[in-house]
Amino acid sequence: MAMDNDKLRDLALAIAATCFFAIVISIRLIKPFLINPKRKKRECYLNKQTKPQSAFKRVLADNSYSQFKHLKFVTEELPSDGEYTNLHPYKGEISKLMKNRNVGFLEVLNGCDKWGLEMQNSYVWVDTESELRELVEVLTNERVFAVDTEQHSFRSFLGFTALIQISTVKEDYLVDTIMLHDKMLLLRPVFADPEKCKVFHGADNDVLWLQRDYHIYVVNLFDTAKACDVLSKPQRSLAYLLETYCSVSTNKLLQREDWRQRPLPEEMIQYARIDAHYLLYIAYCLCQELMEKKDENSPPGDKLHFLLEASRRSNATCLQLYAKEIEACPGELAASSIISRCLNDQGNISSNFSDTKELVRRLCLWRDITARLHDESLRFVLSDNAIIALAAKVPANETDIFSLISKADQDVEFTVLVPSQSPSPVIFCHLEDLQCLLQANTDNSDNIFEHFIEQHLSPAGSCPLSAFNYNLLSKTNFRLTNKSTSNRNGFRASKHITKKASRDLFVKKFSCKSPVYHNCKIYANDGRLLCYCDRRKLEWYINRNLAKLVEEDPPSIMLLFEPKGRPEDEDNDFYIQSKKNICVGCGEGKHYLRYRIIPSCYRMHFPEHMKSHRSHDIVLLCVDCHEIAHAAAEKYKRQIADEFGIPLFVRKVVDSSKSQEVPASSLLVTSSEENGVSPLQLRTAAMALLRHGPQMPAQRHKELMQVVKAYYGGREILNEDLERALVVGMSPHERKRFEKKRGYTFKHFTRGIIQNHGKGNNINNKAPISIENVLQEDCEGISKEECMGVNLLPLSSGSEANAAKYTGGDDDFREDLKIPNGDVSTSENLSNGTAPVHVRDTLLKHEKLSLLGHGPHGKQVVEHLLKEYGEDGIREFCQRWRQVFVEALHPRFLPGGWDVMHSGKRDFGEFSVYKPGKKAALMT
Ligand code: AMP
Ligand code: MN
Ligand code: ZN
Repeated sequence: MAMDNDKLRDLALAIAATCFFAIVISIRLIKPFLINPKRKKRECYLNKQTKPQSAFKRVLADNSYSQFKHLKFVTEELPSDGEYTNLHPYKGEISKLMKNRNVGFLEVLNGCDKWGLEMQNSYVWVDTESELRELVEVLTNERVFAVDTEQHSFRSFLGFTALIQISTVKEDYLVDTIMLHDKMLLLRPVFADPEKCKVFHGADNDVLWLQRDYHIYVVNLFDTAKACDVLSKPQRSLAYLLETYCSVSTNKLLQREDWRQRPLPEEMIQYARIDAHYLLYIAYCLCQELMEKKDENSPPGDKLHFLLEASRRSNATCLQLYAKEIEACPGELAASSIISRCLNDQGNISSNFSDTKELVRRLCLWRDITARLHDESLRFVLSDNAIIALAAKVPANETDIFSLISKADQDVEFTVLVPSQSPSPVIFCHLEDLQCLLQANTDNSDNIFEHFIEQHLSPAGSCPLSAFNYNLLSKTNFRLTNKSTSNRNGFRASKHITKKASRDLFVKKFSCKSPVYHNCKIYANDGRLLCYCDRRKLEWYINRNLAKLVEEDPPSIMLLFEPKGRPEDEDNDFYIQSKKNICVGCGEGKHYLRYRIIPSCYRMHFPEHMKSHRSHDIVLLCVDCHEIAHAAAEKYKRQIADEFGIPLFVRKVVDSSKSQEVPASSLLVTSSEENGVSPLQLRTAAMALLRHGPQMPAQRHKELMQVVKAYYGGREILNEDLERALVVGMSPHERKRFEKKRGYTFKHFTRGIIQNHGKGNNINNKAPISIENVLQEDCEGISKEECMGVNLLPLSSGSEANAAKYTGGDDDFREDLKIPNGDVSTSENLSNGTAPVHVRDTLLKHEKLSLLGHGPHGKQVVEHLLKEYGEDGIREFCQRWRQVFVEALHPRFLPGGWDVMHSGKRDFGEFSVYKPGKKAALMT
């Protein structure tokens, strides 16, 4: 710890020097801004206009320079160099289809020929979750369906799917993928099902777009364009096939229309339907031809030869993986192409060609980053022609810049290549960027680049932060030039800014979006105030004729029955205080989230009647106070762990099936024990083996088997052992959630761990069980909150751990998302979305053990307390937690009546929603 004076002095000098250089560089950077007296910061146009994609919560492909991450079923414990290996999650299935002689799409042939070709008037517009679920249900019962997608790419950097058309033999479905963007994962299972043939025409792009937007992977494809190739058709366009087989003509120009429009014009709806509707019939015709086609090389009577070839080529398409184009020097490709065009057209070039080239590069770089920041296409930001004109003429003032750009865009023949507005709103609101670029010294362009990001995205910046551009800010890692001497300072500065931005985004996304407390009142039938509550509770009484409305604003009811117990009975007026929607720590009123003073890992094991008084021990805290309180609670948990001798985390597990009487909680052995493995290791190994076992390299297979064997004491491993291993180390609660999430119960749990808990919920009572269900990361049945924001997580410097703090460790955070039956939560602020987190990935990467919650720690502590001290032990335990909270935060805004010593002894009335046994009734 001790540092001698010399070292301190060196350090101080180093810091001073760093600061000096940082300041010098900043001044050089900002100079062009300072010397322009007219410059006033304009508001970004995105603050005034919203684009449909800004409502997307789940964004898989963001605009950062980091590579796209594919769906992973298995997170193997690879050497943690942070590298993410992208493998096709269905490689096995697709390869199998390509080898298989029983081609799935032969089903197309069955019953197809008599099916009416005409397109009916009716179709189904799908734009709600329940309609989407119905569609999934329909497709679950189909062996084949046709698909087409429409994209939007002008007002988006990477583009997004604006419509998906799905046709069965009976019906055409148009899926509004803008409304349903965050729900589209519901379609994953049908698309990945090798038993169902998907017919596309020219699927090369569609397959990638579905991966990009929804992690939907197509398995078992019949591509009519590939069939055309195999049949050596004169043309392979859909228009040709429609004409030839269906006598239908289409106006392909509609393909380029703005598919974001709602409602879609009738003409576009018809066009979209046609693109999918006839595909099944066309596929049928092509299959016939493929079977009739003769081949001298194949054995006589082999009618499948060409069909198999078409199938093979189709499915080869499915093996493609979406990847972002990431240039080492962003914009460089565009710049080279512009420069080579300039060389062919010397008229544009001023005398100093190398300066012009440099300027083109810088403009392309700026256009790249600006398009990413605003989630716009490059051509929407600035056309190639405008770049050429700007670089050649180097205009200085606003008027010249604008007129030069609009003139350049007018000159272009092909209107599709230029922005519809010229100059674009991006140029209008960020003109100072262009001026800076055109004036700046050529040797600091990399600094300028970082400067722009900070200028625009940092909390003080002018442009909105979104799921699309967030990672741009947090993961800025440019390798623009070889001379990266000054990058260090730049990076340090951005790290600081990132931290603040990350917090702001966090607040934006995670705090409660509407007041938590409604402060509705409940009076006793003698007119005395009983408590404050939310609207839901109030309605519960009224709907059951247990109360009448006595006041409108705020709504108040009088109970029609004599409540058991009055607030004053328990010497506590907490429940008759109205509560303010502010942070109880510091009084912050702009944002807050719920904080549970008694950590859920304990509370969930309390006897039912002691859990119910939630409102006292759930308070509102701003993000900063939340962080402080949480840190204190985590620290105190460790103290509890030491005090009770009950470790917080599971270290290693061994199989218990040999000793039947051992209860689940004592499965755990400490890390000193040599046999056994960590539960996470065990589970990931088991999952990998179940999923990829047969395709795995022998060496890897053996390694993973070793892990599983270590758990089962070295014996031979059966498939059922692997399935059992998937839930080892989870608390019953976690296991239930795991099962529920995957719609799966464990068929092989007839003995062993689950038996200890699973008395009531008998296992084999569910519909077809397939291990696939378990392994699909987010298959159907996923809850609303889990569909949200992969990229909404603040992922930067330490904030990943931050997010975990609010989400993982114990389940506090996730519990906030449950449908409430307590005082503080309301369905209203739930639907506004408190806190989405795709916890799994984050935790796996960063707090591996947290994946298991605290395993049995909470349960063991509570059991211990109950055994030793009974319910008083629990009460005293709660008081300790309140004390920890108060000491950590010194909260100044706790509601009157809040008390560390709160008894929690309040009785439940006959009709109380909290009365034990009433809960089930309330939930229905
Ligand atoms: P399609 O496969 O014909 O339904 O086209 C799907 C999507 O690809 C359309 O919604 C367009 O966004 C895009 N697209 C296909 N061809 C073109 C083209 N020639 N020009 C512009 N966009 C196209
Ligand atoms: Mn189409
Ligand atoms: Zn902007």
